[in-house]
Amino acid sequence: MEHQRRMPAYLFISTAIILCSLLLFAMPELVPAQPNPHWGIHDMNRPKPAVVNPGTASTQERPGEPPSDAIVLFNGTGLSQWCTMTGEKPKWKTEGNYLETVAGKGPIRTWQAFGDCQLHIEWATPNPPHGTGQGRGNSGVFLMGRYEVQVLDSYKSDTYADGQASAIYGQYPPLVNACRAPGQWQTYDIIFHRPHFSEDGKLIKPARITVLQNGVLTQDNVEILGPTNWQNREPYEKHPDKLFLALQDHHNPIRYRNIWIRELSENSVYAANRKQITIPDTLLNRYVGTYGFNGKPRIFVSKEFGQLYIVPNRATKYPLNAESLTRFFTSKLAADIVFDLDKNGNVTGLTEYMGGGKEVVKKIK
Ligand code: MG
Repeated sequence: MEHQRRMPAYLFISTAIILCSLLLFAMPELVPAQPNPHWGIHDMNRPKPAVVNPGTASTQERPGEPPSDAIVLFNGTGLSQWCTMTGEKPKWKTEGNYLETVAGKGPIRTWQAFGDCQLHIEWATPNPPHGTGQGRGNSGVFLMGRYEVQVLDSYKSDTYADGQASAIYGQYPPLVNACRAPGQWQTYDIIFHRPHFSEDGKLIKPARITVLQNGVLTQDNVEILGPTNWQNREPYEKHPDKLFLALQDHHNPIRYRNIWIRELSENSVYAANRKQITIPDTLLNRYVGTYGFNGKPRIFVSKEFGQLYIVPNRATKYPLNAESLTRFFTSKLAADIVFDLDKNGNVTGLTEYMGGGKEVVKKIK
């Protein structure tokens, strides 16, 4: 009898074990998917990186092909991506596959605005060389129009260390002097992370930069101390999250070719893949004001630290990013703003596009 009673007990235990095992086996199905970035090791379901055709390397004779996802800023076919600091057509020379600075014509800068980025640019200083020190083949690559990677003929030519080629001007000498001879094409590959600021203008995180000159590491993820200047270290000043790239006119004829950039995107879904430009201050200022209908204020547009904001009610404000001279988008509000101009360029009103609808308001003041 006892034997007969034990058998069902065994059966019960075995069944329980089998059921528990089945449940444990099924457990991963019951556990919610782990959030990114906590993927398990070697998980085949983890999203794969985008495929990029890496292009080709340059030689002295010819520039290489940029990677397939790069924004080409100059490849020899005109300067349409560039303007002067006040938004006019640049007066630099283009010839063959290169452009050349023209003394006294001032710096040039891109229309498009960039924050974190990878930049490739090639340059050559005059051969035979002219001048000495800082007067010998001087130009510069200005990230966000403020932070200069020095361009200089530093091949068997002496100057202060924090001002030679590959220096973060006035701050960091390069790790080594990797210069080629005058007239030779040289490359900069730059990885730049923009500075971050609080709403009220305090620095939260300084900019960082890595530079390779001719494939040799010359700046290793250094922390930029502030805007770069001659004989002067200025503190950071809050500026928009994206700004133009500029090239310096230091009165020496410097050639540039094969300029491309890859954005290291921090964009929101709404702002993803939207090209942002930098509008000169004189044009940007005209949008500041109060908008409404029948004389009643409805929308405010303000500008702080060089950044335009839309203020739908007085409590909140959203940065407005320019897509063209009159069209703006916000990433936080998922709205587009298009300003209306009269024949003389005066702002008469704006249209706000949001959630499939639109609202038209006049400029009151
Ligand atoms: Mg310079």
